[in-house]
Amino acid sequence: MPELPEVEVCRRGLEPELLGAQIEQVIIRSPKLRHVIPVELRDLLPGCRIVGIRRRGKYLLIDCRSDSVQGSLLVHLGMSGSLRFVAHGQPVVKHDHFELVLARHVLRFADPRRFGLILWQSGPPEESEQHPLLAIQGIEPLSDDFTVNWLYQANLKRSGPIKPLLMDSHRVVGIGNIYASESLFRAGISPLRAANKISKARYGLLVPAIRQTLSDAIAAGGSTIRNYMHSDGSSGWFQIQVGVYDRAGEPCLRCGGVVKQVRQAGRSTFYCPGCQH
Ligand code: ZN
Repeated sequence: MPELPEVEVCRRGLEPELLGAQIEQVIIRSPKLRHVIPVELRDLLPGCRIVGIRRRGKYLLIDCRSDSVQGSLLVHLGMSGSLRFVAHGQPVVKHDHFELVLARHVLRFADPRRFGLILWQSGPPEESEQHPLLAIQGIEPLSDDFTVNWLYQANLKRSGPIKPLLMDSHRVVGIGNIYASESLFRAGISPLRAANKISKARYGLLVPAIRQTLSDAIAAGGSTIRNYMHSDGSSGWFQIQVGVYDRAGEPCLRCGGVVKQVRQAGRSTFYCPGCQH
Protein backbone atom coordinates (compact mmCIF):
# COMPACT_ATOMS: atom_id res chain seq x y z
CA MET A 1 0.00 0.00 0.00
CA PRO A 2 1.39 3.43 -0.89
CA GLU A 3 2.49 5.28 2.23
CA LEU A 4 3.63 8.87 2.69
CA PRO A 5 7.10 8.37 1.15
CA GLU A 6 5.64 6.68 -1.93
CA VAL A 7 3.10 9.47 -2.38
CA GLU A 8 5.80 12.11 -1.93
CA VAL A 9 8.04 10.38 -4.47
CA CYS A 10 5.06 10.08 -6.80
CA ARG A 11 4.51 13.84 -6.40
CA ARG A 12 8.15 14.55 -7.21
CA GLY A 13 7.96 12.29 -10.23
CA LEU A 14 4.79 13.96 -11.51
CA GLU A 15 5.87 17.54 -10.93
CA PRO A 16 8.28 18.09 -13.85
CA GLU A 17 5.82 16.55 -16.32
CA LEU A 18 2.62 18.10 -15.01
CA LEU A 19 3.63 21.61 -14.02
CA GLY A 20 2.50 24.00 -16.73
CA ALA A 21 0.88 21.26 -18.81
CA GLN A 22 -2.52 21.92 -20.33
CA ILE A 23 -5.31 19.39 -19.91
CA GLU A 24 -6.86 18.55 -23.27
CA GLN A 25 -9.36 15.92 -22.25
CA VAL A 26 -10.60 14.00 -19.21
CA ILE A 27 -11.61 10.37 -19.63
CA ILE A 28 -13.56 8.61 -16.90
CA ARG A 29 -13.84 4.91 -17.68
CA SER A 30 -15.26 3.63 -14.41
CA PRO A 31 -16.24 6.28 -11.88
CA LYS A 32 -16.87 4.06 -8.88
CA LEU A 33 -13.87 4.35 -6.60
CA ARG A 34 -14.07 4.94 -2.84
CA HIS A 35 -16.15 7.95 -3.86
CA VAL A 36 -17.61 8.45 -7.33
CA ILE A 37 -15.36 10.47 -9.66
CA PRO A 38 -17.28 13.71 -10.38
CA VAL A 39 -18.54 13.52 -13.95
CA GLU A 40 -18.34 17.31 -14.36
CA LEU A 41 -14.54 17.02 -14.55
CA ARG A 42 -15.04 16.13 -18.22
CA ASP A 43 -16.34 19.65 -18.89
CA LEU A 44 -14.44 21.52 -16.20
CA LEU A 45 -10.81 20.58 -16.80
CA PRO A 46 -10.14 20.74 -20.55
CA GLY A 47 -8.35 24.03 -21.20
CA CYS A 48 -7.00 24.22 -17.64
CA ARG A 49 -3.30 24.45 -16.93
CA ILE A 50 -1.73 22.54 -14.06
CA VAL A 51 -0.21 25.20 -11.83
CA GLY A 52 0.82 23.14 -8.81
CA ILE A 53 1.23 19.64 -7.48
CA ARG A 54 1.23 19.23 -3.74
CA ARG A 55 0.94 16.53 -1.11
CA ARG A 56 -1.05 16.58 2.11
CA GLY A 57 -0.76 13.34 4.08
CA LYS A 58 -1.32 10.63 1.49
CA TYR A 59 -3.37 12.91 -0.77
CA LEU A 60 -1.99 14.48 -3.93
CA LEU A 61 -3.39 17.86 -4.89
CA ILE A 62 -3.18 18.82 -8.54
CA ASP A 63 -3.95 22.53 -8.82
CA CYS A 64 -5.72 23.43 -12.08
CA ARG A 65 -6.51 26.83 -13.49
CA SER A 66 -8.03 28.51 -16.52
CA ASP A 67 -9.68 31.91 -17.02
CA SER A 68 -12.95 30.53 -15.69
CA VAL A 69 -11.94 27.55 -13.55
CA GLN A 70 -9.84 27.29 -10.43
CA GLY A 71 -9.57 24.26 -8.18
CA SER A 72 -7.63 21.20 -7.16
CA LEU A 73 -7.95 17.55 -8.03
CA LEU A 74 -7.66 15.47 -4.88
CA VAL A 75 -6.08 12.11 -5.65
CA HIS A 76 -5.62 9.27 -3.18
CA LEU A 77 -3.98 6.03 -4.26
CA GLY A 78 -5.87 3.93 -1.71
CA MET A 79 -4.55 0.37 -1.34
CA SER A 80 -3.46 -0.31 -4.89
CA GLY A 81 -3.73 2.87 -6.93
CA SER A 82 -1.04 4.13 -9.28
CA LEU A 83 -0.48 7.04 -11.62
CA ARG A 84 1.47 6.50 -14.78
CA PHE A 85 2.35 8.39 -17.92
CA VAL A 86 1.51 6.48 -21.08
CA ALA A 87 1.74 7.39 -24.75
CA HIS A 88 -1.33 8.60 -26.62
CA GLY A 89 -3.28 5.66 -27.93
CA GLN A 90 -1.72 3.10 -25.62
CA PRO A 91 -4.35 0.37 -25.12
CA VAL A 92 -6.28 0.54 -21.89
CA VAL A 93 -5.94 -2.39 -19.53
CA LYS A 94 -8.24 -3.65 -16.82
CA HIS A 95 -8.48 -1.32 -13.79
CA ASP A 96 -7.55 1.82 -15.76
CA HIS A 97 -10.26 4.12 -14.43
CA PHE A 98 -9.32 7.70 -15.20
CA GLU A 99 -7.03 9.73 -17.41
CA LEU A 100 -5.87 13.25 -17.98
CA VAL A 101 -4.97 13.67 -21.63
CA LEU A 102 -2.11 16.16 -22.01
CA ALA A 103 -0.33 17.35 -25.15
CA ARG A 104 2.73 15.15 -24.70
CA HIS A 105 1.19 12.08 -23.13
CA VAL A 106 -1.56 10.76 -20.91
CA LEU A 107 -1.62 10.49 -17.13
CA ARG A 108 -3.49 7.32 -16.32
CA PHE A 109 -4.89 6.27 -12.94
CA ALA A 110 -5.25 2.54 -12.30
CA ASP A 111 -6.61 0.95 -9.14
CA PRO A 112 -7.52 -2.75 -9.01
CA ARG A 113 -9.02 -2.60 -5.54
CA ARG A 114 -10.76 0.75 -6.00
CA PHE A 115 -10.00 2.16 -2.56
CA GLY A 116 -8.43 5.21 -4.18
CA LEU A 117 -10.29 8.37 -5.01
CA ILE A 118 -10.34 11.32 -7.36
CA LEU A 119 -12.34 14.34 -6.23
CA TRP A 120 -12.55 18.02 -7.03
CA GLN A 121 -12.30 20.99 -4.70
CA SER A 122 -12.98 24.33 -6.37
CA GLY A 123 -11.27 27.50 -5.22
CA PRO A 124 -7.70 28.71 -4.83
CA PRO A 125 -4.97 26.26 -3.76
CA GLU A 126 -4.74 27.62 -0.21
CA GLU A 127 -8.40 26.77 0.36
CA SER A 128 -8.18 23.21 -0.88
CA GLU A 129 -6.91 21.95 2.44
CA GLN A 130 -10.27 22.84 3.93
CA HIS A 131 -11.81 19.91 2.07
CA PRO A 132 -13.40 17.67 4.76
CA LEU A 133 -11.01 14.80 3.92
CA LEU A 134 -7.97 17.04 4.37
CA ALA A 135 -9.21 19.10 7.31
CA ILE A 136 -9.07 16.01 9.55
CA GLN A 137 -5.45 15.24 8.69
CA GLY A 138 -2.87 15.52 11.45
CA ILE A 139 0.40 17.41 11.20
CA GLU A 140 3.09 16.54 8.66
CA PRO A 141 5.96 14.55 10.21
CA LEU A 142 8.51 16.17 7.90
CA SER A 143 7.33 19.70 8.67
CA ASP A 144 8.65 22.05 11.33
CA ASP A 145 5.44 21.51 13.32
CA PHE A 146 6.50 17.98 14.25
CA THR A 147 8.79 18.62 17.19
CA VAL A 148 9.93 16.67 20.24
CA ASN A 149 7.96 19.02 22.44
CA TRP A 150 4.79 18.60 20.39
CA LEU A 151 4.94 14.79 20.48
CA TYR A 152 5.80 14.71 24.18
CA GLN A 153 2.94 17.08 25.08
CA ALA A 154 0.48 15.26 22.81
CA ASN A 155 1.19 11.97 24.59
CA LEU A 156 1.35 13.21 28.20
CA LYS A 157 -2.13 11.90 28.96
CA ARG A 158 -2.13 8.93 26.61
CA SER A 159 -1.65 5.68 28.51
CA GLY A 160 -2.01 3.44 25.45
CA PRO A 161 0.99 1.85 23.72
CA ILE A 162 3.06 4.23 21.63
CA LYS A 163 2.94 2.47 18.27
CA PRO A 164 -0.80 2.70 17.47
CA LEU A 165 -0.70 6.34 18.61
CA LEU A 166 2.07 7.10 16.13
CA MET A 167 -0.08 5.60 13.38
CA ASP A 168 -3.14 7.75 14.15
CA SER A 169 -3.32 10.00 11.08
CA HIS A 170 -5.63 12.46 12.85
CA ARG A 171 -2.59 13.37 15.00
CA VAL A 172 0.38 12.88 12.65
CA VAL A 173 -0.09 11.80 9.05
CA GLY A 174 1.85 9.23 7.14
CA ILE A 175 3.54 7.08 9.77
CA GLY A 176 2.39 3.75 8.37
CA ASN A 177 2.98 0.35 9.91
CA ILE A 178 6.45 -0.25 8.51
CA TYR A 179 7.67 3.25 9.40
CA ALA A 180 6.24 3.10 12.93
CA SER A 181 7.99 -0.24 13.59
CA GLU A 182 11.30 0.87 12.08
CA SER A 183 11.34 4.29 13.78
CA LEU A 184 10.74 2.73 17.20
CA PHE A 185 13.52 0.22 16.54
CA ARG A 186 15.92 2.99 15.56
CA ALA A 187 14.99 4.95 18.71
CA GLY A 188 15.27 1.86 20.96
CA ILE A 189 11.71 2.28 22.23
CA SER A 190 9.38 -0.70 22.69
CA PRO A 191 6.19 -0.41 20.63
CA LEU A 192 4.34 -1.75 23.68
CA ARG A 193 5.48 1.04 26.01
CA ALA A 194 2.75 3.37 27.30
CA ALA A 195 3.09 6.70 25.49
CA ASN A 196 2.96 8.69 28.73
CA LYS A 197 5.76 6.58 30.21
CA ILE A 198 8.31 7.70 27.62
CA SER A 199 10.61 10.49 28.75
CA LYS A 200 11.08 13.67 26.78
CA ALA A 201 14.70 12.66 26.21
CA ARG A 202 13.55 9.45 24.53
CA TYR A 203 11.03 11.35 22.39
CA GLY A 204 14.11 13.33 21.47
CA LEU A 205 15.42 10.15 19.83
CA LEU A 206 12.09 9.12 18.33
CA VAL A 207 11.27 12.30 16.41
CA PRO A 208 14.53 12.33 14.39
CA ALA A 209 14.19 8.55 13.92
CA ILE A 210 10.76 9.04 12.33
CA ARG A 211 12.01 11.87 10.13
CA GLN A 212 15.06 9.88 9.07
CA THR A 213 13.09 6.70 8.35
CA LEU A 214 10.66 8.59 6.12
CA SER A 215 13.47 10.54 4.45
CA ASP A 216 15.38 7.31 3.76
CA ALA A 217 12.30 5.86 2.09
CA ILE A 218 11.83 8.97 -0.05
CA ALA A 219 15.51 8.85 -1.02
CA ALA A 220 15.24 5.13 -1.85
CA GLY A 221 12.29 5.85 -4.12
CA GLY A 222 13.69 8.97 -5.67
CA SER A 223 16.24 7.07 -7.66
CA THR A 224 13.71 4.69 -9.18
CA ILE A 225 10.56 6.73 -9.60
CA ARG A 226 11.26 8.04 -13.06
CA ASN A 227 11.57 4.57 -14.49
CA TYR A 228 8.58 3.47 -12.51
CA MET A 229 6.26 6.19 -13.68
CA HIS A 230 7.13 5.80 -17.32
CA SER A 231 7.10 2.04 -17.46
CA ASP A 232 4.28 -0.43 -17.88
CA GLY A 233 5.46 -2.63 -15.04
CA SER A 234 3.10 -3.28 -12.20
CA SER A 235 3.75 -2.67 -8.51
CA GLY A 236 7.13 -1.06 -7.95
CA TRP A 237 6.75 0.36 -4.45
CA PHE A 238 10.13 0.53 -2.83
CA GLN A 239 11.26 -0.32 0.65
CA ILE A 240 13.81 0.95 3.08
CA GLN A 241 16.46 -1.33 4.51
CA VAL A 242 14.51 -2.82 7.39
CA GLY A 243 15.80 -3.60 10.85
CA VAL A 244 12.80 -5.45 12.27
CA TYR A 245 9.82 -5.16 9.92
CA ASP A 246 8.66 -8.56 8.62
CA ARG A 247 11.69 -10.23 10.23
CA ALA A 248 9.94 -12.21 13.01
CA GLY A 249 12.13 -15.06 14.29
CA GLU A 250 15.24 -13.70 12.58
CA PRO A 251 18.26 -12.34 14.47
CA CYS A 252 18.25 -8.64 15.36
CA LEU A 253 20.85 -6.85 13.25
CA ARG A 254 21.95 -4.84 16.25
CA CYS A 255 22.10 -7.25 19.21
CA GLY A 256 21.66 -10.71 17.66
CA GLY A 257 18.52 -11.39 19.72
CA VAL A 258 15.36 -12.69 18.10
CA VAL A 259 12.92 -10.27 16.45
CA LYS A 260 9.43 -10.70 17.83
CA GLN A 261 6.01 -10.20 16.24
CA VAL A 262 2.85 -9.16 18.10
CA ARG A 263 -0.56 -7.78 17.12
CA GLN A 264 -1.44 -4.21 18.06
CA ALA A 265 -4.72 -2.56 17.06
CA GLY A 266 -5.17 -5.19 14.38
CA ARG A 267 -1.75 -4.66 12.84
CA SER A 268 1.46 -6.66 13.01
CA THR A 269 4.21 -5.09 15.08
CA PHE A 270 7.83 -6.19 14.85
CA TYR A 271 10.41 -5.35 17.49
CA CYS A 272 13.50 -6.58 19.28
CA PRO A 273 12.88 -7.12 23.02
CA GLY A 274 16.65 -6.93 23.53
CA CYS A 275 17.13 -3.44 22.05
CA GLN A 276 13.74 -1.84 22.59
CA HIS A 277 12.44 -0.96 26.06
ZN1 ZN B 1 18.17 -6.18 19.16
